[in-house]
Amino acid sequence: MRQVFETVVARCITEGLVSGQRLAVDASLVAADANRQNSSPPSEWKHEPIDPDAVPRAVREYLATLDEAAFGAATPVQPKFTSHSDPASQWTAARKGPAFFAYSANYMIDTDNAVILDVEASRSVRQAELGAMQTMLDRTKDTFDINPERMIADTAYGTGPLLEWLVQERGIAPHIPVVDKSGRTDGTFERAYFTYDDENDLYVCPGGKELKQNRRAFTKPRPTGPHKDGILRYRARKADCDGCQLKARCCPKEPQRKVTRSVYETSRDVARKITETVDYAISCKLRKKVEMLFAHLKRILKLDRLRLRGPCGVRDEFHLAATAQNLRKLAKLIPIQSLARQVA
Ligand code: SF4
Repeated sequence: MRQVFETVVARCITEGLVSGQRLAVDASLVAADANRQNSSPPSEWKHEPIDPDAVPRAVREYLATLDEAAFGAATPVQPKFTSHSDPASQWTAARKGPAFFAYSANYMIDTDNAVILDVEASRSVRQAELGAMQTMLDRTKDTFDINPERMIADTAYGTGPLLEWLVQERGIAPHIPVVDKSGRTDGTFERAYFTYDDENDLYVCPGGKELKQNRRAFTKPRPTGPHKDGILRYRARKADCDGCQLKARCCPKEPQRKVTRSVYETSRDVARKITETVDYAISCKLRKKVEMLFAHLKRILKLDRLRLRGPCGVRDEFHLAATAQNLRKLAKLIPIQSLARQVA
C-alpha cells in the first residue's frame, strides 16, 4: 500500500501539481471496528501472561506496537477503556461528543492543489499526532527531497518542542498558533507587558526595573538554567516592587513579581511574529484544505468507520483512502494542466 501511495504521489509531482513549499498537516478521528461492550477498564485487567500465538491478529499487532511512538509509547496515561477486539485503538471523544474507540488519520498535504504528500495512522492522543507530523516531514524529505518553506497547522501543533524542532532543526517557518498559557484573567500585567533583553538574559518590567534569574552571588554556586519542566524563572527585586506605584496592577498578592520563560521561547516568538503577517492569514485559509479532505474521506468515501483492525490494517486503509483521493485529484487536474501547457 505504501508503494502504491508513493507511486501516485510521485506522479502528482511529475505532473506539476506539487510545489512542496507550503505544506499543511492535521489529524482526524476515524472510528475503529470496536465497541464499548467488548472492552474493559484498567481495574478489570487480568495480570496474566498472554500467549501471542493464541490471540487474534489485532491483539498480536497491539503487543508488537507497545514500544512505538505512534502507538503504545505515545503516552504513559492509562486509557479509560481498552477494547478486547482492537486494543491499539483509543477510547476518545471529539469536541465533547460521545466517546468511542478510534484511530487518528494524519494527513500532510501540499496546499497548491491539496495533494496528500504523506499519511500516517496513529493512536488518537495528541503526542502521537505530533510525532506523526515529524515522521511525515522526515519521510517526505527522504523520499521526495521536499523541504517546505512553511508548515501550516492548528493550535494543537503549537507546542514548544515541536516549534523548536521546526525552526531550529528544520529551518521551516511555523504558520501555527502558539500554545500560550501566560494570559491572566484578573487584570494584572501579562507576560507580554514585560520586555525580554536577549543580550543580558533578563526581563524589563513596565516600571522599568529588571527581572533576573539569579541576583545573589552565592559562595557555593547554585545550579542555573531551566527547571525540570523546561521553564526559566525571572524575579524582580523585592525592594523595587515594594515602592512601585504599579504594584496593584502587577503583583498585588505577592511580595515581588515573577515571570516565567520557556526554554523554547525563541522559537515560540518566531511563530508569534508570523501570526501578525498577511501570509499567516492566507495560511489560515489554506489550512481548511486538509479539513475538506477529511470531510471528503468520511462523507463521500464513507470511511467514517474502519473495517480492518490493528495498526497494520488501519495503516492499509488510510493509505488506500489517501491514494484514492490523490488519484481523483490527478484525474481532475491533469487535463486542465495539459490544456494550459498546449495553450502556452
Ligand atoms: S511591581 Fe515590581 S515588577 Fe511590577 S512594575 Fe513595579 S517594579 Fe516592576
